[in-house]
Amino acid sequence: MSTPGRVRRVARVRQRMAEVGVDALLLSLGADLPWLTGYRAMPLERLTVLVLPREGDAVLLVPELEAPRVPDSDGVFTLRPWSEREDPFGLAAELVRAGAGAHGVLAVSDRAWAGALLALQDRLPEARWRPGSSVTAPLRAVKDPDEVAVLRAAAQAADRVAAALQHGDVPLVGRSEREVSAEIGARLVAEGHERVNFAIVGSGPNGASPHHEAGERRIVVGDVVVCDFGGELRVGEGLAYCSDITRTVVTAPPDPEVRDCYAVLYAAQRAGVAAARASVPAEDVDAAARTVIEEAGLGDRFIHRTGHGIGIEEHEDPYLVAGNRTPLEVGHAFSVEPGIYVPGRFGMRLEDIVVVGDDGPEALNTVDHSLVVVEA
Ligand code: ZN
Ligand code: ZN
Ligand code: ZN
Repeated sequence: MSTPGRVRRVARVRQRMAEVGVDALLLSLGADLPWLTGYRAMPLERLTVLVLPREGDAVLLVPELEAPRVPDSDGVFTLRPWSEREDPFGLAAELVRAGAGAHGVLAVSDRAWAGALLALQDRLPEARWRPGSSVTAPLRAVKDPDEVAVLRAAAQAADRVAAALQHGDVPLVGRSEREVSAEIGARLVAEGHERVNFAIVGSGPNGASPHHEAGERRIVVGDVVVCDFGGELRVGEGLAYCSDITRTVVTAPPDPEVRDCYAVLYAAQRAGVAAARASVPAEDVDAAARTVIEEAGLGDRFIHRTGHGIGIEEHEDPYLVAGNRTPLEVGHAFSVEPGIYVPGRFGMRLEDIVVVGDDGPEALNTVDHSLVVVEA
């Protein structure tokens, strides 16, 4: 991220802190810290925390041995390395008292260690605590054009792996799910991902478990195979953003039940994508996809929400789920991934990453959406 971009982001965070009544933001482990500063803390037991008061200077406390990894702050914060002879929780408490007073409302990273939070609460007994996401989540959910460009590059790389799968370049019949999963992961890296987050391969009855972990089952002719995979891709010096795609293939021409179910799934996913427009409540995307499946009499086979936001984390705001009335905004990026699961027999899911644009939804994944027969 460029310097003006980072300064602008900090300004938006401070504005939101004022709106929701937070006096200081404490960012430790998790994605909020790199989103704001470009620095990703290692998940060490040693304390890393950015203390960002609503007004006044922000200070990043890091273990001295980590300080060389911290990128240039662009004037957004002061770096304060702490040595092994100091008490980092005492230092953090002093910074909080100086910036927000002893009775302040503090928002702390959702992914901070519980141990770190308990130690901070011990030092700041008068403070009131909120989840950091109450400040950051709605801001992180709206991607700027640079972020969308990286998400698009990640989606295109994932599409190339899905295309190879659909073309039969990834042999299926006779191999174990684990072997296919390993090959999909290797292809994600070969297409530019710096790491693989997951590669679900659910064959035959295993496909009915949406998050099935690829195992020893060998794929046979006639299987329906759910392949859901993603990783993180970086462009230049910026942060890495996630990909996430699902395509379902069959290893022989499908029987009528599978074919009919897939036609329903396809229509549901198209309806979900089409509904993804600015100012539409997030839950309406879920309803659009779900209604198609319910009207086909398969409502009880669709056992999860329709999608999740995506960015530097695989799952973040906004969630496309009944009850989430948050209006979609231009720049929201999320998956649309309905599924149909028939226990003991098969499952199927179809997933694209979609960005809400000025002129409607843009699906970042464009690889073939049909039920492709892979006789390999
Ligand atoms: Zn999932
Ligand atoms: Zn997925
Ligand atoms: Zn997903």
